[in-house]
Amino acid sequence: MNIYLDNSATTKPKPEVVAAVMKCLTEDWGNPSSIHRMGQDAKAIVDDARKVVADLIGAKPSEIIFTSGACEANSLAICGLLKQNNYTLITTQIEHKSIRQIYSALNIPKVMMFTKKNGLLNLNKLKQVLESNVKAPPLVSVQYANNEIGTIQNMKHISNIVHRYGGILHTDATQIIPDRKIDVTGIDMMSFSGQKLGAPKGIGVLYVRDGIELSPIIYGSQEKSRRGGTENVPYIAGLGAAVRNLAYHTGEVRDYFVQQVLAQIPDCYLVGATVEHRLKNNASICFKGVSSEMMVVMLDQKGICVSSGSACNAGMEVSHVLKAIGMGEDAKSVVRFTFGDNTKAEVDIVVEELVKICKKLRQNG
Ligand code: PMP
Repeated sequence: MNIYLDNSATTKPKPEVVAAVMKCLTEDWGNPSSIHRMGQDAKAIVDDARKVVADLIGAKPSEIIFTSGACEANSLAICGLLKQNNYTLITTQIEHKSIRQIYSALNIPKVMMFTKKNGLLNLNKLKQVLESNVKAPPLVSVQYANNEIGTIQNMKHISNIVHRYGGILHTDATQIIPDRKIDVTGIDMMSFSGQKLGAPKGIGVLYVRDGIELSPIIYGSQEKSRRGGTENVPYIAGLGAAVRNLAYHTGEVRDYFVQQVLAQIPDCYLVGATVEHRLKNNASICFKGVSSEMMVVMLDQKGICVSSGSACNAGMEVSHVLKAIGMGEDAKSVVRFTFGDNTKAEVDIVVEELVKICKKLRQNG
């Protein structure tokens, strides 16, 4: 048995994606920079994927830069802009490690904001920070949706505020892209990763609004000299195929799961925001008094894949996100279930196991 409930970590490549990748590896393996036919065929594949990705988010193809993933896209957005100009970097405590580590590494004016208990940014506090930080223009980087607790920010409001204060807004949209249709209206730069939508690991996107000058962090002539390196044509084609076949989450199976867990297991609760502000595939649940790591291991023994915190945090201490939203001891008991094309029958199996595991761990505890 294998029940995969870790779709925020990565997703299974779709058959159309595998076919597109294979075609590039076996037939269309030219270098897009070559003038001959083989090169031009590869270039046509990259151009096509660029248009499909641009259409997905309401951007122009010229505004799309292909990267190796969202980590690189985040680095390029922040560091690429900082190479052009001085900025005050404003971000949140619940960002992905790739943003947090840039924040720590930079010796510039910077502010890391706490969020509310549900993970939402306090917009009045954002205004206050922007009002008091006039040393350099603000560069605000706020995750569209959180990878651990699934909280979706009020991006339209954030955008209005940031622009009112003359700032630039970057968002890490990695988790929201497979969740619902969003577009780049009001957003200056946006990162995301192919692996969350059925494309391979190792391909990502940075959207940069036309007119924003960015210096490269990897030098070379490709991507209009903004990201050097021969284009990863197979994975770019795979990303194009994933976007063409994208089916947004419905939330139905997740809702059924949450309802069953809360009904059948005592002393547990949903962590993060209400359904309105939550990714439709995310159920981050605190099983009070239960070690989340033990639960992950015991579920794995039954062929059920889930995670305690995000994949990048797994095996480490308490997640920075759960700490930042003020969870205390309960943070050690939070398990993340993220759904893909799962069935209610699978949910029934998982809930049955959860009931047994909770009983066992609570007795031992
Ligand atoms: N940002 C967020 C919100 C993510 O969830 C992830 C993947 N866990 C990343 C960035 C990094 O993506 P990648 O590893 O594909 O670069």
